[in-house]
Amino acid sequence: MKALVKRRAEPGLWLENVPEPKVGINDVLIRVHKTGICGTDVHIYKWDSWAAKTIPVPMVIGHEFVGEIVEVGSNVSDFFPGQIVSGEGHVVCAIDKDVAAIFDPFGNAVHTALSFPVLGEDVLVTGAGPIGIMAAAVARHAGARFVVITDVNPFRLELARKMGVTVAVNPQEKSIQEVQKELGMQEGFDVGLEMSGNARAFRDMLANMAHGGKIAMLGIPAEEMAIDWNTVIFSMLTIKGIYGREMYETWYKMTVMLESGLDIKPVITHRLNYAEYERGFEVMMEGQSGRVTLDWETI
Ligand code: NAD
Ligand code: ZN
Repeated sequence: MKALVKRRAEPGLWLENVPEPKVGINDVLIRVHKTGICGTDVHIYKWDSWAAKTIPVPMVIGHEFVGEIVEVGSNVSDFFPGQIVSGEGHVVCAIDKDVAAIFDPFGNAVHTALSFPVLGEDVLVTGAGPIGIMAAAVARHAGARFVVITDVNPFRLELARKMGVTVAVNPQEKSIQEVQKELGMQEGFDVGLEMSGNARAFRDMLANMAHGGKIAMLGIPAEEMAIDWNTVIFSMLTIKGIYGREMYETWYKMTVMLESGLDIKPVITHRLNYAEYERGFEVMMEGQSGRVTLDWETI
């Protein structure tokens, strides 16, 4: 079978023929239809210091996918050949295949966005990457009043606007304080979703929170970052780290929101054939994309 392989400890990925995995008694074999290119995959492609110390080579990469079960092990009684499943290990009947291909980052977005109650609250999202944009859409869907998102990348700000945020702002051009004023906000944001991993973005967030405000942090900073702890203390802020998703609670919420009209499809900006993977990584590295998916059905 064909796969994208990190063959050597250097930048790049290689489309290669690799052996089909053996099906153990507790396994299912999945024929992959579509995959999502994750930020993690971009790190592996670039071979930055994180990838170099974390990823053993050679390795077949990729973890965001939708596909069809083609074989099950002898112990498996609750899954059957022909079922469509996604990278969350979740049976995704009735869910659009493009959306199912990005269930993994969508799970991160839902987990973060619903960490604190947002009904009627004003929400600030820092970082309009695919996960930040999906989290903003989830906060809206869950009844937030204003959802303001920040990024320094015009392509992504525009994408966030298409997804229906209240305001998408570049903090280098206009301060978040100004946005608050324009919206008639007096006290700052009730809930913050940190989705950039960027220290400046996080500091901007801290300076714009209401007293008693709550921050969920998903973005992974590249290094330690200093903040003004006085703000945290005197504004009595709560900061909660978020990792992955909650089994199975996040999945149920994801499915129910999609069924009740949440549309995250616009976040997929490029649908490419697997053979065009180099272009997929390029647009991601240039920041000219939301989520990129690769189609493997035509092999
Ligand atoms: P991404 O890199 O595509 O998005 C981050 C965005 O932040 C980019 O669009 C970037 O332009 C923007 N940004 C940079 N500086 C900024 C600033 N000063 N102000 C506002 N925005 C700024 O990443 P993604 O795929 O959307 O993921 C979001 C974050 O979540 C990443 O840091 C990722 O590593 C992290 N992550 C964490 C988990 C977890 O379990 N904790 C899981 C998946 C991803
Ligand atoms: Zn991922």
